[in-house]
Amino acid sequence: MRRDLEMLGFPAANWPAETTGSDGFPITDVVVVGAGMNGIAAAAALIFKGVRNVRILERNPAGREGPWLTFARMDTLRSPKILPGPALGIPSLTFRAWYEAGFGREAWEALYKIPNAVWARYLGWLQRVLNLPVEHETIVREIAPSAGGLEVRIRTSQGQETLFARRAVLATGRGGAGGDRLPDFVDPALWPDRAAHTNEAIDFEYLRGKSIGILGGGASAWDNAATALEQGAARVDMYVRRSILPQINKGRGSASPGYFYGWSALDDADRWSLFVYLNDAQAPPPHETVRRAMQQDGFNIHLGRPAEAATRQGEKVVVRIHGEEAPQEHDFLIVGTGFNVDAGAIPELGAWSSSVARWRDRYAPPDELQRSDLGDFPYLGSGFELTERHPGQDPDLSRIHLVNHGAALSHGAIASDIPGVNVAAERLSTAVVASLFREDLQVIRRSLEEFDEPELEGTPFFVR
Ligand SMILES: Cc1cc2nc3c(=O)[nH]c(=O)nc-3n(C[C@H](O)[C@H](O)[C@H](O)COP(=O)(O)OP(=O)(O)OC[C@H]3O[C@@H](n4cnc5c(N)ncnc54)[C@H](O)[C@@H]3O)c2cc1C
Repeated sequence: MRRDLEMLGFPAANWPAETTGSDGFPITDVVVVGAGMNGIAAAAALIFKGVRNVRILERNPAGREGPWLTFARMDTLRSPKILPGPALGIPSLTFRAWYEAGFGREAWEALYKIPNAVWARYLGWLQRVLNLPVEHETIVREIAPSAGGLEVRIRTSQGQETLFARRAVLATGRGGAGGDRLPDFVDPALWPDRAAHTNEAIDFEYLRGKSIGILGGGASAWDNAATALEQGAARVDMYVRRSILPQINKGRGSASPGYFYGWSALDDADRWSLFVYLNDAQAPPPHETVRRAMQQDGFNIHLGRPAEAATRQGEKVVVRIHGEEAPQEHDFLIVGTGFNVDAGAIPELGAWSSSVARWRDRYAPPDELQRSDLGDFPYLGSGFELTERHPGQDPDLSRIHLVNHGAALSHGAIASDIPGVNVAAERLSTAVVASLFREDLQVIRRSLEEFDEPELEGTPFFVR
């Protein structure tokens, strides 16, 4: 791996101008928020290109980045094992190279799909072997504009601190562009002892012997049903709005270089129409997860029975189903309704988030393609940069790049799932390089003029 990097000349020497803040300390060129798959790939791609003044800030301890060891409750990744992972085109950085080196070729041949914990170890290895400057247990609380740059307010075990950066990359994961989706009809007073979202930590030991209601029929709802029953829940009832589950994974059908490279070049109408098509189709739960849940006694699914209220009644959760007189009673409710995307609710931006342009600010779809929730997706620029809702009012927003699922409408699914991660990192790093180069042009030009290494010394043509 080291030889591969050496042969490719990675990482290049640092070239951006060194800038200092009013406190005299160097300003960080790029702060990457999140050390999951997209944060790792983005930071590595920047460092390879000689943008080496980078800090990666991650709220979780080392090894606990991303969903893999917490709320991803499937046994294995849903994707096939042959995906290269965030390898940036370098064979020795691929998941397969790492796995074969550690476990042998036979083990690779025998591997069916990648267990979550193995994938998390691979991502941890990438962080270490690429010497990525990850600062764990560091929470980015807020990012705000500051003269000619960004103020990044962080919290660590040492307390609160402010650092200054020229660019920020929000690689904050699936929930990073709007948080968990919680239907209006679910009473928030059910928390914490009577309900949890699938994306939260759940104490399944506490659910032993209990009756669990689950809202939703997507992959995570099934994963949680299976986990609860495997860990001793007495019964699980899944309430699903649809009367048949989605059958085809159109996401897989669109995971090709054409979509990855071509999507962002489409006009707004085509991007919107494609996204509506994919979003309406939804994805089926993986058959492995379905089988895992169905193997358990106590599993019940209620298709075509949409919940319309979930409230607390004494020690119970009462779920009312549309059109049914008698309510359903459970000891605990798990809400498997996915994530929101809302440009106005990017947590790290606080109130500044309301200045981010959304799709509804830039594009009006025809009536049959109106989807109110999709209108809240951020309308990103060609390098994942946020754009201003009111042009001219918040130019510093373009210093912030959003590399998570919130980018899906603007760029396709390249910052969402594993297959697109390298394309996203390449696009992002190229855009940041170009904008830093433009910003630093005067300094870079001056240092070019001062560059003075004679080539002809020792030949008759040398002139001092
Ligand atoms: C349950 C589940 C299963 C999935 N399975 C698959 C699959 O099989 N195949 C596939 O291709 N895709 C899958 N995905 C989709 C996608 O690959 C994952 O969501 C993946 O984790 C995305 O990587 P990421 O780097 O964007 O986000 P993450 O891996 O979530 O990393 C984001 C990181 O940012 C950190 N962070 C967030 N906010 C802050 C902050 N303010 N300060 C500091 N740190 C912060 C988080 O702690 C986290 O570690 C799955 C997603 C989920 C949720």
